Amino acid sequence: MIDVHTHLEQPEYSSDRDQVIEKCKKQLKAIITCCAHPRDFDLTIQLTEKYKGFIFATVGIHPQYVREVDERQREEFFDLIKRNKNKIVAVGEVGLDFNWEKENEWREKQKQMFVEFIRFSKELKLPLVIHSWDACEEAVRILEQEDAKQVLMHMFEDNRLVKEVASNGWFVSVNAIVLSSKKYKKVVRDMPLEQLMLETDAPWLAPEGFGSKRNDSTAVKFVAEKIAEIKKVSIEEVDKETTKNAIKFFGLSIKI
Ligand SMILES: [Zn+2]
Repeated sequence: MIDVHTHLEQPEYSSDRDQVIEKCKKQLKAIITCCAHPRDFDLTIQLTEKYKGFIFATVGIHPQYVREVDERQREEFFDLIKRNKNKIVAVGEVGLDFNWEKENEWREKQKQMFVEFIRFSKELKLPLVIHSWDACEEAVRILEQEDAKQVLMHMFEDNRLVKEVASNGWFVSVNAIVLSSKKYKKVVRDMPLEQLMLETDAPWLAPEGFGSKRNDSTAVKFVAEKIAEIKKVSIEEVDKETTKNAIKFFGLSIKI
């Protein structure tokens, strides 16, 4: 299995990051860690170098940080990413988050930053990892307007848009919210297995029964189990398909 969306740079792992990664190595084929703020860039790249062939990175600015990173800092960050393009496998997570951001002015700025990142991913010829959550419709519209092709939707909960997302050839990554949310269950039900991937969004969103409040990538098995149940296929089938999808989408150089 591959966890396509986690945050290994988070302070929750500061005291035992290597042990957590070693534990994950025993159970998983790879981990994609998402650097969502410029301050996390160095640590993220260090991890991909230390665990070459196991940890891969995406880099972007999460929409909730739009107030923290101004345009000039963004330009500098684009330059930094460009210089390190060969060390990352995608741009993200980027997108929209209207749950954290209630003010219209800043929501507009999120949209502006989102468009910048979509164009940037095209320039770099890298796929996009999208945070959409409660702004799925707006995010899908912007992606379509910008003619984005290689897209992975994370925190995607709008079942009404599943057909559209699927026919655009985009992917959806599923985390443990699917264990309790009807909306996410419907998304999994209607999205072809050929366009699904597994994720955790750890250190957050630990599933019930995980045994710890701090989540980690090994929890993808709970997600795989649930997808198998919803789709009425074996867990091996879910593992095989989602792993294949992740390797192809991110162009991972790993053996399976
Ligand atoms: Zn995330």
